[in-house]
Amino acid sequence: MEATAKAPMMKKRTFKVQNWVSPKSVVPQLGFSPLKSLGQNFLIEKPLLEYISEQANVEENDAIVEIGPGTGALTQHLIPYEVPTLCLELDKGLAAYLKQTYESPQLSILHGDVLAGKHDLHPELISYFMEQKKAGRGLKLISNLPYNILTPLLINLLKYLDLWHSGLFLVQKEFADRLMAKEGTKAYSLLSVIGTLFLKMERLKKVGRNCFWPAPSVESLIIRVSPTSNTPPKEEFILFLKALFIHRRKSLAKVLKQIAPQFQLDLFIEEHGLSSGLRAESLPPHLMLQLFNDIQKSSVST
Ligand code: SAM
Repeated sequence: MEATAKAPMMKKRTFKVQNWVSPKSVVPQLGFSPLKSLGQNFLIEKPLLEYISEQANVEENDAIVEIGPGTGALTQHLIPYEVPTLCLELDKGLAAYLKQTYESPQLSILHGDVLAGKHDLHPELISYFMEQKKAGRGLKLISNLPYNILTPLLINLLKYLDLWHSGLFLVQKEFADRLMAKEGTKAYSLLSVIGTLFLKMERLKKVGRNCFWPAPSVESLIIRVSPTSNTPPKEEFILFLKALFIHRRKSLAKVLKQIAPQFQLDLFIEEHGLSSGLRAESLPPHLMLQLFNDIQKSSVST
């Protein structure tokens, strides 16, 4: 990589990459086509990549994890920060290309799946999170990943919410809508409940389809999320939400009869001034958590 201009040390550091290499030139050179199965819609607009790297708000004492770096379109804008950076890429060919192309003492490229099955993160990623925490570094996550892995990724990231500072994600609009949905709306889901309870969430910028190559069929936007709690959601709470949202249109009374028959829902309904035919999709996040806690207590005391 060509040398890049280094900005003076300030709290908010920004850099201009002089000889940025676009995915559009790298991919044909490597002799392959973007893979739909890996969601390979690469970012090809340099100003947008500059915007993303600036919005990451990387400070001197931070570390970065980039998930799905692809051909390094964004990585090139992160290297000048000169902070420990881990890039995790599932595509073997791209991971090998990145290793050969971007040598920097602070940069590590790891080939692998960010998810270990659906229920955890890649073990080396978890070790990296822990190392950075031990070293007193604030961890900034950055990613532009396929839709199908965003939900399991976020749920698994929440397990380690005490280990990372913030995440800048380029996501499909539908995902952002689900994450930030209010109760009673069509988009309200498990994701909305845990998002509201455990994260501060911001919509930063819409991203047009022509910023990608190949252009995707869905709208995208950049969001920032930051943990608001030091305690991760309990595994049982996630399972409870899953059970409730599978039957989102059924009355809570019917669903709880199956999963918590001992629980006196009428008392809960009365206490919180709710309607007796209440459905899961209408219960706000804080009452979802309250209901879960009350059910847990009731199962201990019976
Ligand atoms: N960040 C690059 C950019 O913006 O040009 C690439 C973005 S592309 C949408 C998604 C990248 O994530 C691809 O390089 C793909 O191979 C990688 N990827 C897909 N699934 C992954 C997974 N489970 N773990 C790690 N990387 C993954």
